[in-house]
Amino acid sequence: MTQTRESTVDIWGPRTPFTGSWPERVDERTLEEPERWVQSACVLCSNGCGIDIGVRDGRIVGVRGRAQDRVNHGRLGPKGLNGWEANNSADRLTQPLLRRDGELQPVSWEEAFDVLVGRTRSILDEYGPGAIGFYNTGQLFLEEYYTLSLVAEAGIGTAHVDGNTRLCTATASTALIESFGSDGQPGSYTDFDVTDAIMHVGHNVAATQTVLWTRILDRLEGSNPPRLVVIDPRLTQAARRADVHLAPRPGTNLPLLYGLIHLMIANDHLDHAFIGEHTVGFSDLETISSTWTPDRVEAVTGVPAAKVEAAEEIIGTAPTLVSTVLQGVYQSWQATASAVQVNNIHLVRGMLGRPGAAVFQMNGQPTAQNTRECGANGEMVAFRNWNNIAHIEDLARIWNVEPERIPHWAPPTHAMQIFRLAETGSIRLLWIMCTNPGVSLPELGRIRDILSSDDVFVVVSDAFPNETTAHADLVLPAAIWGEKTGAFTNADRTVHISHKAVEPPGEARPDLDVLLEYSRRMGFKDKDGEPLVKWTDAAGAFDAWRECSRGQPCDYSGLSYEKLTGGSGIQWPCNDEFPDGRERLYQDGIFNTAADVCETYGHDLATGAEITPEEYRKDDPAGRAKIKVAEYAAPPEEPDADYPFLLITGRVVHHFHTRTKTGRAPALDAAAPNVWVQLAEADAEPLGIGEGDMVEVRSRRGSVRGPARLGEIEPGSVFVPFHFGSADGRGDRRAANEMTITGWDPVSKQPYFKYSAVAVEKVG
Ligand code: SF4
Repeated sequence: MTQTRESTVDIWGPRTPFTGSWPERVDERTLEEPERWVQSACVLCSNGCGIDIGVRDGRIVGVRGRAQDRVNHGRLGPKGLNGWEANNSADRLTQPLLRRDGELQPVSWEEAFDVLVGRTRSILDEYGPGAIGFYNTGQLFLEEYYTLSLVAEAGIGTAHVDGNTRLCTATASTALIESFGSDGQPGSYTDFDVTDAIMHVGHNVAATQTVLWTRILDRLEGSNPPRLVVIDPRLTQAARRADVHLAPRPGTNLPLLYGLIHLMIANDHLDHAFIGEHTVGFSDLETISSTWTPDRVEAVTGVPAAKVEAAEEIIGTAPTLVSTVLQGVYQSWQATASAVQVNNIHLVRGMLGRPGAAVFQMNGQPTAQNTRECGANGEMVAFRNWNNIAHIEDLARIWNVEPERIPHWAPPTHAMQIFRLAETGSIRLLWIMCTNPGVSLPELGRIRDILSSDDVFVVVSDAFPNETTAHADLVLPAAIWGEKTGAFTNADRTVHISHKAVEPPGEARPDLDVLLEYSRRMGFKDKDGEPLVKWTDAAGAFDAWRECSRGQPCDYSGLSYEKLTGGSGIQWPCNDEFPDGRERLYQDGIFNTAADVCETYGHDLATGAEITPEEYRKDDPAGRAKIKVAEYAAPPEEPDADYPFLLITGRVVHHFHTRTKTGRAPALDAAAPNVWVQLAEADAEPLGIGEGDMVEVRSRRGSVRGPARLGEIEPGSVFVPFHFGSADGRGDRRAANEMTITGWDPVSKQPYFKYSAVAVEKVG
């Protein structure tokens, strides 16, 4: 056994201070000596660290970081070092299961496909393509997403395709589109190595992307450390290291960001030339931020005016600035409007497209970028515009179908609406792939009712039994990371290949194989009567994707499995112009906002109303970034006498999503086996609650019980991690989403997880 550190305790490992470059540090953990190492990347967060899989006797026995990879230079966090043990879990699903007489019973793949194809056909005949829905994930590989898009959209003809990435990065993509015209992170992780200041907005980076935080820690320990601003209602590890920590009330990100912008304008911390040449809409920002004085910001957000001024002094004057945004914004009130203000801070300071100047509308899941790129997450394929017929005709040419085969009469249906359509009986077959809405969607009591309804045939593809497979009518056992080959893309556009290291257990199959077989049995054809899907394996799917992305912002045409094998991951766009990948977008100040190019025509950020093509073309920004604004409005559910606190949910460092993998890694499970409730001492004391006391948190929708942890959170807020469900047999009042609210941002359609009014009481 080799272990370079006890990572569940020593989360970030020893410091290797930055000295002009980020030193290598190879982290490793193996339980046996591997016979061989297989190149891959970690799939337990969006950082996408390069990883080698150690194999012995046909089993995964450990991992080590890849020193040559640009993302991590060999480092791995606790999830990367331990999470692989889930592959070897004894309770893997190894056979298809079909519900008969109320029980899930093993069947052959032949019978499973007969049922799946038979159901699809009968529903298509009776109700049409709008009765079929797909709810996928941020965990599949690029090749699977692209195949899913083709099969669902041009095969079945349904617009009801979305991913659980709706829950975590929908606002990232919409914020990028609203400001810059298309999805895609402008910056590079190397920007953290050289920047003068870093601002984290609602991004608990130390817990959610441990290796990125390691990179920042090494800057902070180096010779020229950046200054750090953290906006978070909790005293996180990053907040502890911050020069200025702003802790706003849940739901008040927008006025706080307007307050910062107000001071930037008042202090003339602006790049007037950049604003004039490369943006439109500055006067709207000037007007709307003008009333957000520090005193008014303090009154609404609870952040002292002096702290707002101190933060502005840093972000307004630093020669370079990197900002990151995540769920503290995306899952909260006025999500897109708030995320866009961080873009605006960078636009008015000209902080884009050069080393150390970048904004990261961060991703949550490891392959979230690919759901978005491949059209499986409510975006059109390769950042095409659903409302631009030229884009649809181009996609139809590539897929060799008539344009009308591709649903484009409305934007792709978002996840919350897909479940609503299932609830009302419009969707009759819902295929859930590699995700666990039985824990992760808001208001779980309602979700359970939908999943167990007799009116919806629920198909679940997964590797493990969980709270969702418990309600399925048909379960398809899936091969996962390490058991199949494919590519995926991290949060700074770095594409990695993950080679197959071991065989999947039992009869588990890659989702790509299942989709290919499904399409073949359904008889989906192109307009010439040839098979709709022209590829038979992952390499073929990747090659098809390269062509589909050629000339698009996310251009993979210069990438191949061969090129991705042996060295580091490579950033897109990778093409003839940038054969080794492009590090930064928008270096010339030209954005993807021209009417013929943009990915959508955008929205009114307050109402979500779509801007029509005609309206957009009338004031075509023609390559200039869009500075957009919305008035602040108070959240709809405020604390009252019965429910005096605001609930925020989030992640802990040892777990990923609903613990289907990390809960099966013994060290991670032991480090965080159960839910807990964090509240301020000042709130606990009048309720007679002490550290470790069992408490019940209750909203209008449901309740959770767990031990209290006191402190490191603003009074008035209560934090509950959302990872825990009931499938591990440790209790059934542990899912934070029993309490969350059914509602979503009007632009990104991302659910509101970060404010629900709750009561807390000690329960003995
Ligand atoms: S930071 Fe993310 S990608 Fe890297 S090892 Fe940890 S979980 Fe995996």
